[in-house]
Amino acid sequence: MEKDIPVLYKRIEECCGCTACVAICPKEAISMVEDEEGFEYPQIDEKKCIRCYKCLKVCPFKTE
Ligand code: SF4
Ligand code: SF4
Repeated sequence: MEKDIPVLYKRIEECCGCTACVAICPKEAISMVEDEEGFEYPQIDEKKCIRCYKCLKVCPFKTE
C-alpha cells in the first residue's frame, strides 16, 4: 500500500514558516507558497515526495 504524503500542518498556526522542512527534503519536493496574506507556507509536490518523512522530523512544531 502506498504511504501517505506527510501533513506538515493542519492549521496555519502549526507552521511558523521556518523552511526547515524545505531545507531537509532530499527530493526538493517542498516549496514555499505565499498565501493571500503574504505569508509563506510549505507545499509538498506529491509526485516528487518519496515519503521519507524527514520534513516531519525536522519540524519544530512536531517534537513528540
Ligand atoms: S517526506 Fe521526504 S521527500 Fe517527502 S516532502 Fe518530506 S522530506 Fe521531502
Ligand atoms: S519545518 Fe514545520 S514550521 Fe518550519 S516551515 Fe516546515 S512545516 Fe512550517
